Amino acid sequence: MRIFDPHIHMTSRTTDDYERMAAAGVRALVEPAFWLGQPRTSVGSFTDYFDALVGWEPFRASQFGIRHHCTIALNPKEANDPRCREVLAVLPRYLEKDGVVAVGEIGYDSMTPEEDEVFAAQLALAIDHDLPALVHTPHRDKARGTDRTLDVVRESGIDPGRVAVDHLNEVTVARVADSGCWMGFSIYPDTKMTAERMVVILQEHGLERMLVNSAADWGRSDPLLTLRTGEAMLAAGFSADDVDRVLWRNPVEFYGQSKRLDLSDIEGTAATFEGNSILRGGS
Ligand SMILES: [Zn+2]
Repeated sequence: MRIFDPHIHMTSRTTDDYERMAAAGVRALVEPAFWLGQPRTSVGSFTDYFDALVGWEPFRASQFGIRHHCTIALNPKEANDPRCREVLAVLPRYLEKDGVVAVGEIGYDSMTPEEDEVFAAQLALAIDHDLPALVHTPHRDKARGTDRTLDVVRESGIDPGRVAVDHLNEVTVARVADSGCWMGFSIYPDTKMTAERMVVILQEHGLERMLVNSAADWGRSDPLLTLRTGEAMLAAGFSADDVDRVLWRNPVEFYGQSKRLDLSDIEGTAATFEGNSILRGGS
């Protein structure tokens, strides 16, 4: 099984996770920019983080034969902090970089007026830079949050086929299917969405525009839940080709719209990172 995890926060994971993922068949991933737990207080903290997403993490992933891409944005949670808003001015510089395959995660956390403004501004950036957009839906009040998200996407004028609306569940999937946007599902060990529930959603809504991710982050999460979902699909009677479509070809199609997805020579580990050899056992 070859796996492309379309939404995973490797910054918060250990090198052991990369090793386990590679052994499980993960060959490519997209790491969306998000919050870091501890609130950031200046633009410099963002640029250091963005630099890690386009520099250090791709190198770390490459040591295990995993191709790393990222999405760049001001996340919804921090959109509410005036000290963080200035980061909007540096985003265009990052949105031009090779490994950046979408604007994200954008969207709503608490659905404040500040979040409205930052969400719309970043959809406009996606259009300007000809990039897809990865949109986070709030974990509280999900149905209303998803409706409002889809309204803002429509108003922005972006092609819905270039938008993935993530963290969906049984309650929100149908309205996103109708919108023409891609549907993202984050599988968690014991909350929000499980591999078994995901299989039922695929049986009911089909495989088109479906993205499954492990969203592994700072909380209790598991970077192998993409694999578990593939296994659950096979156990439920889906074919190996169906699994390949959901876990590989769909994310390739969605992020391929950036024209920056580089999946060539994917087993290679030839990358180097300035002055750093710790992952190879150097000092
Ligand atoms: Zn995320």
